[in-house]
Amino acid sequence: MTDRYAVIGNPVAHSRSPSIHAHFARQTGQDLEYGRLLAPLDGFVVAVEHFRDAGGCGLNVTLPFKSEAHAWAARRSARAQVAGAVNTLRFDRDGAWGDNTDGAGLVRDLEDRLGVALAGRSVLILGAGGATRGVIGPLIEAGVARLTIANRTAPRAIALVDEFAGMAAGRLRGCGFDDAGDGHDLLVNATSAGLVGDRLPIADALFAGAVLAYDMFYAARETAFVAQAREGGCARACDGLGMLVEQAAESFFAWRGVRPLTAPVYEALRTELAAGVA
Ligand code: NAP
Repeated sequence: MTDRYAVIGNPVAHSRSPSIHAHFARQTGQDLEYGRLLAPLDGFVVAVEHFRDAGGCGLNVTLPFKSEAHAWAARRSARAQVAGAVNTLRFDRDGAWGDNTDGAGLVRDLEDRLGVALAGRSVLILGAGGATRGVIGPLIEAGVARLTIANRTAPRAIALVDEFAGMAAGRLRGCGFDDAGDGHDLLVNATSAGLVGDRLPIADALFAGAVLAYDMFYAARETAFVAQAREGGCARACDGLGMLVEQAAESFFAWRGVRPLTAPVYEALRTELAAGVA
């Protein structure tokens, strides 16, 4: 019987995950189907349990349910436990297992596809929401020397950093945009400002000194943050499509025990996105 997976969220119609997993399944010869599951904002658990009880094997979890998925999972990977958020659920005989593959996806895209080694770097993350929560642990583990979390609402960044203080003494700092400091090698936009095309109120000098500006948001055309980085004199800037493909590959591995090749899928997705393929 064909194994069933899906991405659950609200909204979810825009998700590229079904296309990515269809590419992975074809490439690796895995017999699976992968759909979209729109859950009511107050109906996450009911929707997950219905999918599981109908024979579903696993889910990707997207906005706004990652914290709820973390709370609901019976068991969690160490990185999901650290992140306090789950983006991958696998339904085993022992119950639901939750993982968070966002951080691994970002690190792999930066180091493997873009060739930016993270050890010893100073990294500035803009934003302190769920995506940032998922990537702090993996960036620390990748050996960054300094990790600054700057957020529009400074107390949120400070509170988030406090949660992670135990694993990164002296390397982690939370602040507002005005207090982001300078000399950062890598700038990562983890705000949702790009969804409405907003630019961030940060100094151009931050871009001019960085080796890479990375926007977790992605789009068919240049994102607002990538345009801002380019105009600010950044050496290199790109969007988060590569992270999306890499975090999906990590989920695929957790479900199927097979690691797909990501480079051809990234190229196919970029083409599909540009052509407006749903
Ligand atoms: P979230 O939990 O809702 O957090 C949103 C963050 O954006 C908060 O820090 C918020 O600041 C900030 N923000 C919102 N509007 C802003 C604006 N106009 N100016 C400045 N800051 C603003 O969202 P999330 O789950 O962390 O997702 C963040 C982004 O990452 C989204 O664009 C998402 O698509 C992307 N993402 C991409 C991948 C990938 O694989 N490529 C994976 C995960 C997430 P306040 O605290 O001040 O409200």
